[in-house]
Amino acid sequence: MDHAGRQRSLQAALGENKLDAFLVTHLPNVRYLCGFTGSAGALLIRESGATFFTDGRYVAQAREEVSGARIVIVRKAPALAAAESIAALRRRRVAGRLGIEPQAVTVGQREQISAILRGQWKLVSAPPLLERARIVKDKDEIRLIREAIELGAGLFKIARKKIRPGIREVEVAAAMEYQARREGAEGMSFSTIIAAGKRSAMVHGRASEARIPRRGFVVCDFGVILKGYCSDRTRTVHAGSASRIARQMYAAVLEAQQAAIASVGPGVSAAEVDAAARKVLRRHHLARYFTHSTGHGLGLEIHEAPRLAFGQTQRLEAGMVITIEPGAYIPGKQGVRIEDVVVVTSKGCEVLTATDKELIII
Ligand code: ZN
Ligand code: ZN
Repeated sequence: MDHAGRQRSLQAALGENKLDAFLVTHLPNVRYLCGFTGSAGALLIRESGATFFTDGRYVAQAREEVSGARIVIVRKAPALAAAESIAALRRRRVAGRLGIEPQAVTVGQREQISAILRGQWKLVSAPPLLERARIVKDKDEIRLIREAIELGAGLFKIARKKIRPGIREVEVAAAMEYQARREGAEGMSFSTIIAAGKRSAMVHGRASEARIPRRGFVVCDFGVILKGYCSDRTRTVHAGSASRIARQMYAAVLEAQQAAIASVGPGVSAAEVDAAARKVLRRHHLARYFTHSTGHGLGLEIHEAPRLAFGQTQRLEAGMVITIEPGAYIPGKQGVRIEDVVVVTSKGCEVLTATDKELIII
């Protein structure tokens, strides 16, 4: 991972954003910039260099993982220690501007940091510089996402074997998650969704105690974290014979998903991809049952920029990794979602989660 290069680009962006220092506290951003994977750390970026603050639990780990930054072990919250170091720095000079990540700092922390700076530094909410940098993945990141996806692919085979009428959803999820850990996953990228029968109409139907019915859709949405990077995939299977309406619904969602994938390419806006999926579902009178966005970026986090939804003007660029996951959910009846991860290329996109998507009857 090119931590030094990432830090350099951030340092170069400080001036344009009128920042003299940037306090990075969102842990995925800390990891992105210096490699630290622990749960307590703050990275202070200035034009003159980077300093990483962590506590006594992470002495060995910080030495092993952190690159491109000086390591300081502290006895208090790393962000507050970083603020103290910067307050000490500028006592004699004009007030500088310290950028913080508003989404990663609580109101309480902000007040504490402000009190430490005592007006000698001005505290400002920085623009999402790291979210913008992370939106396009480099070669190393795409390789790791591919590895995570490969691991994830095997889990659907487990789900297919395990899904039988009478089995509880949690048992299916447990078998998948056990296999993921055995194959080296650090964890799941979100709570595994196994939503069967009427529950398939719940967009975020986490695996529950409910049993797989004799007949009905089973939405399986799952992902792993491997070496920090997330995978994500949804397949919907059908227990028992599928009615004509169920088949039509599945075919419509699949057609919408394929249309959205076909629309992906550099220069295309996120809203256009979303519209491509919605247009197909409208034709099948299912648009009002498609109640979420068409997809999201993923990488170190399961939900990253861009968001593929109505009104999103972000243009796609080669190297962005996004999900394409339209669905249709008829409350109290049934739901279908099909999700793939694609990487935007110079010509269009490559589907990383490619497997057969014809309706599987179990
Ligand atoms: Zn998913
Ligand atoms: Zn997703």
